[in-house]
Amino acid sequence: MLKDIERVLLSREEIEKRVKELGQRISQDYKDVDLLIVGVLRGAVVFMADLVRSLSIPSQFDFMAVSSYGSVTRTSGVVRILKDLDEDIRGRHVLLVEDIVDTGLTINYLIKNLQSRAPASLEICALLSKENKQQIPLEVKYLGFTIPDQFVVGYGLDYAEKYRNLPDICVLNPEVCSE
Ligand code: IMP
Repeated sequence: MLKDIERVLLSREEIEKRVKELGQRISQDYKDVDLLIVGVLRGAVVFMADLVRSLSIPSQFDFMAVSSYGSVTRTSGVVRILKDLDEDIRGRHVLLVEDIVDTGLTINYLIKNLQSRAPASLEICALLSKENKQQIPLEVKYLGFTIPDQFVVGYGLDYAEKYRNLPDICVLNPEVCSE
């Protein structure tokens, strides 16, 4: 598996430090309300697991699973919900946790969908955002890192369902993802 990796972009130590900082900010901002954290399966699972353990406030979890039509490395913006929330979010303070914002099409779809269910508040927490790629202006209130426009894997992120378990965020060898 390691031969497929070109280089480490963000080490596990850098990620750990940043996730703790995000957790502190979120704990401060939501200290007086009930927080519902919604993770987007499957990519956000590793990030969310670390993020929730860095919170000093109570929180509940829920998950959505989506699939985007498109190629392995590019989304089309047409999103299908594979698993919906178990909770009713009307009147709840919701924090949507995503692994990566690339064009922003997936998260834009999710935000519109969740907004229509009348939450009390709805914010985005994304670990990564790709520089100069966003097609849709989105306010990502809690952002881990802005990264160059390269395909990355690890820490939950996959290429064709592989590499999710790598502890660092890595740039994949271009020969591996030559689409
Ligand atoms: P968007 O709709 O273009 O913003 O793409 C978002 C989704 O595409 C993410 O939730 C990921 O599943 C996937 N994605 C985009 N860029 C990458 C990447 O560099 N590595 C792994 N998955 C990615």
